Amino acid sequence: MEWIMKNNLIKGIPASPGIAIGKAFLYKENNLEILEKSILSKEEELERLIKGREVAKKQLEEIKENTLQKLGKDKADIFEGHITLLEDEELFSEIDSKISEKKCTAEFALNEAIDEYANMLANLEDAYFKERAGDLRDIGKRWLYGVMNVQVVDLSKLEPETIIVARELNPSDTAQINLENVLAFVTEIGGKTAHSSIMARSLELPAVVGVGTVLENLEDNQILIVDALNGEVIVNPDEETLKTYREKRENFLKEKEELKALKDKEAVSKDGTKVDVWGNIGSPNDLKGIISNGGFGIGLYRTEFLFMEKDSFPTEDEQFEAYKIVAEGLKGYPVTIRTMDIGGDKSLPYMELPQEENPFLGWRAIRVCLDRQEILKTQFRALLRASKYGQIKIMLPMIMDIEEIRKAKAIFENCKNELREEGIEFDEKIMLGIMVETPAVAFRAKYFAKECDFFSIGTNDLTQYTLAVDRGNEKIANLYDTYNPAVLQAIKMLIDGAHEGGIKISMCGEFAGDENAVAILFGMGLDSFSMSGISIPRVKRILMKLDKKECEKLVERILELSTASEIKNEVKEFMKNIA
Ligand code: PEP
Ligand code: MG
Repeated sequence: MEWIMKNNLIKGIPASPGIAIGKAFLYKENNLEILEKSILSKEEELERLIKGREVAKKQLEEIKENTLQKLGKDKADIFEGHITLLEDEELFSEIDSKISEKKCTAEFALNEAIDEYANMLANLEDAYFKERAGDLRDIGKRWLYGVMNVQVVDLSKLEPETIIVARELNPSDTAQINLENVLAFVTEIGGKTAHSSIMARSLELPAVVGVGTVLENLEDNQILIVDALNGEVIVNPDEETLKTYREKRENFLKEKEELKALKDKEAVSKDGTKVDVWGNIGSPNDLKGIISNGGFGIGLYRTEFLFMEKDSFPTEDEQFEAYKIVAEGLKGYPVTIRTMDIGGDKSLPYMELPQEENPFLGWRAIRVCLDRQEILKTQFRALLRASKYGQIKIMLPMIMDIEEIRKAKAIFENCKNELREEGIEFDEKIMLGIMVETPAVAFRAKYFAKECDFFSIGTNDLTQYTLAVDRGNEKIANLYDTYNPAVLQAIKMLIDGAHEGGIKISMCGEFAGDENAVAILFGMGLDSFSMSGISIPRVKRILMKLDKKECEKLVERILELSTASEIKNEVKEFMKNIA
């Protein structure tokens, strides 16, 4: 029992912050007995199959409706996709042939077909398809229960103060959770970017994921503490531990309330320097979380999610609608929208991407868009049309060569001319900037700055490309460190280069939301910080306590140091005095 230590501690990944104390509800699969041999005719088995599918469809439609109310159209669309998958004709005829060939029951054929198809998807390298395998199993389970006339556990009707522990939560499970009764969830598998983790963050529901095999060692109604700040779960805590965590929870909630007071305040440092604090979003639905946390703008809208949620390329009108919602939602504050950043670890089900040895160094982001210019053109047109409704800024990802900017600009200018000819209005002063995430730009920042309207530092990629450390490889995760002096030096070069070239520079990589990095970035002269909604108030609070001159001196000191740990120690000392 490696997972449980002496003090009953389970370790996992913090996926959505918070602390919860409650009773475990073990969400286990029903152990269905699936018989192979059928005593019915083929027609009767087919009838059961179709009836089961109708039951599943009805449930999915209810969940879709529920999600629409709670989380909006974007998340509800996930279930529209599930319904389409459920009604897939190819899948149905595969099951149909199995029933004929094997003379087996509908449930046996269904189970086998779903398993084969889901395994095939799960074995693909691609993170997107791996996640679709989960969706398919989710749909298959509902269908199977429908065929066998078994009730699915209803997560909307759990006892108060429940903590759900599951192997995996599918989006349909997460959407059903009733927030009045469920305090948190824990899953054996899954990572921070799984759909359910993203939904937990939007719901502000604490979650710890990827804890490994625990279900068989836990019991229903056991008391659990979920510390989703540190990614820990404590089983059967003693009174003293409970007391400690009740206090921690109180402090967390109190701090959350206090931080709310900063919502309408601008981030102005002690010496009077105003800094922009913006939010990162993946869909118009995430706007709520940015506005409620006091973000005065969007520093990164990752539009590829809009592309990933569909079964084909979103049309110009579909894109226009999404961008317009965001532009209007921010009421005149800047909204920085990034053109599609596909490739690397993100793919599209309807677009063939080559199998590559090094996808992060391969056909990705702007490279795809310049080769398939119709994609970029449609997106530019949609963005330009939406620019009439707010302050949209457009940003190109993964730039490493000035030629790329010039080519994209030429397409952009053509799109503007087309719209003028068509008599469609847009913001004539719209800015076109670039993500700076390759060392190539850092070395020659001033020259790149002269070719575009703004920079935004993508530290997630800048770190991996500067250090030659794959951002998704667990084996070398310890080497992936933005505090490495080389990365900090690259950031400094980018900020100085932007200013020399007369443009502003923001940061939208994860580092911008790192509380310990704020003083360094402020000292280096970063103009805007962009991060997830939850981090906004904390970063604002720190900025308000800083003095520009002191931070500049801190930067001078750390750039003379040799290692990431020396730098972290220096910053820690500095932050002690701030607190
Ligand atoms: C980055 O690289 O820092 C960034 C913000 O882009 P993404 O994480 O989407 O690659
Ligand atoms: Mg990036």
